[in-house]
Amino acid sequence: MGAGHVTAKRRIAYVFPIYNEEGTIPTLYERMIETTAPLLDRYDLEFVFVDDGSRDRSLELLLELRTRDSRVSVYSLSRNFGHQIAVTAGLDHAEADAVIIMDADLQDPPAVSLELIERWEAGAQVVYAQRRSRKDSPFKRVTASVFYWVLTRLASIEIPRDTGDFRLLDRRVVEELRKYREQNRFLRGLVSYVGFRQEAVLFDRDARHAGVTGYPLRKMLRFASDGILGFSTAPLKLISRLGAVLSALAFVGVVYVLFVRLATPELAVPGWAFVMISMLLLGGLQLVMLGVLGSYIGRIYVETQARPLYAIQLAATDGERKP
Ligand code: UDP
Ligand code: MG
Repeated sequence: MGAGHVTAKRRIAYVFPIYNEEGTIPTLYERMIETTAPLLDRYDLEFVFVDDGSRDRSLELLLELRTRDSRVSVYSLSRNFGHQIAVTAGLDHAEADAVIIMDADLQDPPAVSLELIERWEAGAQVVYAQRRSRKDSPFKRVTASVFYWVLTRLASIEIPRDTGDFRLLDRRVVEELRKYREQNRFLRGLVSYVGFRQEAVLFDRDARHAGVTGYPLRKMLRFASDGILGFSTAPLKLISRLGAVLSALAFVGVVYVLFVRLATPELAVPGWAFVMISMLLLGGLQLVMLGVLGSYIGRIYVETQARPLYAIQLAATDGERKP
């Protein structure tokens, strides 16, 4: 980096969302200390734990860690806000040159974070850890792959598949993400959305160390719909398409009804043609009109997300050049 900063160590913060993880916290901390030992002469570390309204002894254990290690900071949310919000709170409070988001259940192997850091040093601004393999239930694997299949087809931006939130973000990306305040958050989508130089590191995902998943099916479905609805208005556009198809069919139906009525009137029950024609036309018309509403609602939705319009990667101007 620039001359004159040789002495200052760069800062790296690890962010852990914690929901009922009393069974893993001690091991997690130990493993983190071991794994990050080789980093100490080059970096200042911070471990940011965000307790997401745990009902077990997690918070107690975290506060106890803090008394032993001042690099640990603990933020406790007032209730369970959900994984994505917990991570957001961590990103909002971590002051570092790079932030690494990791699950607390040791499914994200701590050693991989060292590779993330290497890639960051080599110039990447987002390094996401992509699963080469995972040790989850068959159900979770199937639902995850259906989800990614749908997401890739519908989303307006490219969201890499088989990535969780395990990733490193350069400070500039974190600062950018802080501007995104939408309620229904799909962080990995937002990270893709902000851009910057993004690279993948492949890894094998481990099984949960202890405790149970904080993502029952109900939360998983909500999360999936946040991903799809947050980055696509395709479901709304579907109404218009369906309306167009139905209207076309209705037109064919109308021609057929008229043909029967005129060519073989003895087959047509009195009043039949009128009822059929109005039914077919109205059905198509209603869907088309719903589609019109859908298009406006889609625009209102995108506007209410109030996302920043762009992120600047580099500005070369008169006075100075900001990185
Ligand atoms: N988590 C959280 N709030 C929740 C659910 C989960 O902060 O409401 C945390 C949890 O402690 C863990 C991470 O998010 O560190 C991932 O959750 P989990 O391992 O339960 O999900 P899975 O790996 O089963 O998808
Ligand atoms: Mg897990």
